Amino acid sequence: MILVMNRDCRKEEIEKVRKRLEINGFKYDVMYGEKHVLIPIVGDLTTSDAGRFESLACVEKVLRVSLPYSLVTRDKKNSDSVIDLGDGVSIGGKYSIIAGPCSVESEENLRNIAEELNRHNVRILRGGTFKMRSSPYSFQGMGEEGLKILRKISDRFGMKCVSEIPDIGKIDCFLKYTDIIQVGARSMNNYEMLRELGKTKKPILLKRSPYAKIEDFLLSAEYLILGGNPNVILCERGIRTFDDSSRNTINIASIPLLKKKTHLPVIMDPSHGTGNREIVSRVALASIPLGADGVLIETHTNPEEALSDGFQSLTPEDFRLFIKKAEKFLSI
Ligand code: PEP
Ligand code: MN
Repeated sequence: MILVMNRDCRKEEIEKVRKRLEINGFKYDVMYGEKHVLIPIVGDLTTSDAGRFESLACVEKVLRVSLPYSLVTRDKKNSDSVIDLGDGVSIGGKYSIIAGPCSVESEENLRNIAEELNRHNVRILRGGTFKMRSSPYSFQGMGEEGLKILRKISDRFGMKCVSEIPDIGKIDCFLKYTDIIQVGARSMNNYEMLRELGKTKKPILLKRSPYAKIEDFLLSAEYLILGGNPNVILCERGIRTFDDSSRNTINIASIPLLKKKTHLPVIMDPSHGTGNREIVSRVALASIPLGADGVLIETHTNPEEALSDGFQSLTPEDFRLFIKKAEKFLSI
């Protein structure tokens, strides 16, 4: 970190900065240039808040040299993290497919969907239960009843399951029924909940907020690991841009970028990323050469009748074709 002060600042002001640095045990230097006084600070500054120096009246700006996170980085852990879900199922180190309906709608419906997925050896079933819908008039999900169904059907086919948690008060309920807790795009900034989930060891599927920079996304993952939970999976699901030709703008570059920056598994959600069944498969396939650790895809036996996101859910035939092409890509 480098503090930039105006050359005209008084001696006492520089002393004030020195004192603050010394109290915090930082090593620093003071360099007098023609227009500025520069104070380079060395040491582990990950946990120091640049804003605290910026608030000193005499400091013009603070230049950050090191990253504001450390636990998620490859400097901290050089090998790819593998999140073990038990019974030989894991995410990371190989390509995983998570699939299922946007929402759990009924036991029979989920059984039919899971049966199809099981045919293609999908080992992780998704299903929304407490739906965070923009409109209060849209289907809100089956709640705890939906979680019970998700657990029952997953067990029936020897699958693991994932569902999105709506708020901090539901943590115990999700710990009981799910194998992975999904923190949805709308909750990526719910730091209070991230802190609580960090106290558990439950695998967390953290989705990127549509308004988050990569740095914000990684900082949310840092909350979880700092809390004591290293089992974090990152999911790129598109961001909001001026372009409304797709539901979200899926940032495919973020996959290799994230893989370079972090040891955590990175997966792609082409369903919410595009919002368009006709292109979901092709975008999903792109995740393979991009180096993703897997995809999360919405599927439904009858998307036209789905209670949520039918327009982006693959039919059984679409899914069969996707798997066929994915197998080809994966064998190259
Ligand atoms: C979902 O996966 O069901 C979902 C709502 O996704 P997102 O949080 O990415 O919008
Ligand atoms: Mn959905």
